[in-house]
Amino acid sequence: MGYVRARIGGKTVLYHRYLMEQRLGRVLSKAEIVHHKNGDKKDNNISNLEIKNQPDHARDHALERLKKEWIELECAFCGNMFVAEGRRVRYKIKKGQIKHYCSRRCVGKSSMAASSNSRKALFQGANVGA
Ligand SMILES: [Zn+2]
Ligand SMILES: [Zn+2]
Repeated sequence: MGYVRARIGGKTVLYHRYLMEQRLGRVLSKAEIVHHKNGDKKDNNISNLEIKNQPDHARDHALERLKKEWIELECAFCGNMFVAEGRRVRYKIKKGQIKHYCSRRCVGKSSMAASSNSRKALFQGANVGA
């Protein structure tokens, strides 16, 4: 998916694999993965291509995903550190939600605390006038 295909000698091939085979002067085996170093599958510049074996390739991509998409945050209620998906955190921040909670429990407790604080404030306000 997302790869550039080319029609060569009557066959449709994955272009990045074709280029690497030309570079090496031999056919690639199935265990050899041609990886795009910059993550752009359409960038088939030979300097962006690199051969990896399958387990290394899978591991490197998993690490990349972890690095890219998970953010460590401090819970705004209990102060625990937790990880959240970066894409979702960025979305919430865009929507103006700058506080983050480690769990639904903390979300609930913090809104309870907020409403009891505002009740207290009302009560104190009433006393001032009395
Ligand atoms: Zn790759
Ligand atoms: Zn929490």
